[in-house]
Amino acid sequence: MRALFFFFLATISAIAAQKHYDGYQVFEVNAKDKVSLEVLTKLQNERSDVYDFWTEPRNANRPIDIMVPPAFIKNFVDLMQAFDIDYKVKIADVERIIEANRKERESVVRKKLRSRSGAPRYSLNWESYSDLPVIEEFLTELAALYPNLMTTSVVGQSYEGNNMNLVKISTGGSGKKAIFIDGGFHAREWISPSFVTWVIRELVENYAAHPQYVDNIDWYIMPVVNPDGYRYTFAANGDRLWRKNRRPNDGSACIGTDMNRNFDFHWDEGGSSDLPCAETYNGGAAFSEIESRIIRDTILGIANQTMVYLTVHSYGQYWLTPWGYTADLPANYDQLYDLAVRAVDKLTAVYGTQYTIGSSTNVLYVNTGPSDDWAMGGAGIPYAYTLELRDTGKYGFELPAEQIIPNNLETWEAIKVVAEDVMAM
Ligand SMILES: [Zn+2]
Repeated sequence: MRALFFFFLATISAIAAQKHYDGYQVFEVNAKDKVSLEVLTKLQNERSDVYDFWTEPRNANRPIDIMVPPAFIKNFVDLMQAFDIDYKVKIADVERIIEANRKERESVVRKKLRSRSGAPRYSLNWESYSDLPVIEEFLTELAALYPNLMTTSVVGQSYEGNNMNLVKISTGGSGKKAIFIDGGFHAREWISPSFVTWVIRELVENYAAHPQYVDNIDWYIMPVVNPDGYRYTFAANGDRLWRKNRRPNDGSACIGTDMNRNFDFHWDEGGSSDLPCAETYNGGAAFSEIESRIIRDTILGIANQTMVYLTVHSYGQYWLTPWGYTADLPANYDQLYDLAVRAVDKLTAVYGTQYTIGSSTNVLYVNTGPSDDWAMGGAGIPYAYTLELRDTGKYGFELPAEQIIPNNLETWEAIKVVAEDVMAM
């Protein structure tokens, strides 16, 4: 009887395998004008159950990456040809990249198990991507090592009951200006939590190298704001390319809302989807999602001291300013743009990595309900940016783990520029 029970368990786990992407291809397309950009935007918001946009249609000069299932490749190519949109195959078989990286991760884990002696002081490293439990363990361990610099708290629970963690890095005192950073909005963008945890480590463990950043600024950091989705991308029965959160939608078999279309500032005014199966589903109401409400309430609690809101995504190498809802510029756009230029200059100086800075002339694409628009327009934070980290699509979300540290080193240089500016504000 017992043996039979275990036989059933084994069968179930074999059936509940991770989603596979055999034969899926990523196309790079170039929309040359506003009309073709509109075609692509429509495709993203109405057919992203089929065509998965790995990068957002942001402007007419930059390529957009779209993953297409094998059964739809012919339709897709026909559509691109019909609208005279340039296209090329960028990734010929998505499953092969996912599989190669999975094997690489497993070998890193084996190596770590072998070299148990000389273990580091905490569980997280930046040589591989880490699931939420490892990140949470790291936060606890680092806070215990540096109680005078860092505290962690759980500001709420996600739909599935995972912790929403908030890190505060501060030397105490009151009336200091603050920087708020979040990561992991979109589950599959693994480099985002990998960078945000690095910022925590750098500020705390490397405090002596730049004490002024922590002495003068309070840092509030939420490394994984979509914990259910994030865990699902690591799960044996999950989906490496999951983007949304994991709350089921009423009246639909499709799960999840795009939390970055769920914020209440010009919500649902374009560039998001009312269809629960779409990757850009806006939730059906502003702040319909518990995770979005927790982020909102956390930010509102510190909004009066917060000068900069940074939300970290991937990929595409963009440093973007609001607004998403209109091509009109924020009143303080010159300052927003100037800081972005100086931050990106320092980033590029490290390895030559090129970033595109969002500006009035190249942003044609509307998207409503993102967190950076709300941070400025709703919470009144003076500076808000969306960062889209490495790469430009050679690997996309499957950015090889060996790029984590270079990505983090270069992006940290940009964060230093932001911190210097906040100290002078
Ligand atoms: Zn994203």
